[in-house]
Amino acid sequence: MSGDWRVTVDRDRCIGSGMCTGVAPEHFVLVDGKSTATVDTTAPAETVTDAADFCPAEAITVRSVTDGQLIAPEQ
Ligand code: SF4
Repeated sequence: MSGDWRVTVDRDRCIGSGMCTGVAPEHFVLVDGKSTATVDTTAPAETVTDAADFCPAEAITVRSVTDGQLIAPEQ
């Protein structure tokens, strides 16, 4: 059984490219030109890992709520 994911955005790293809001608009929104996660945790969704992998600033981190294991971005 796979648990939920915790999604965080480092707003100091975010350059406001809007990539994540385009790929996963249900999970990210631009606020004052920088991305913010719309939820703290989410059911696993490929769009969320895509957003983390594609973020040009590596500002998005996705971890397992259960054990804190890093899910995205890929190392
Ligand atoms: S993809 Fe990364 S840099 Fe671009 S808005 Fe989202 S968090 Fe910011």
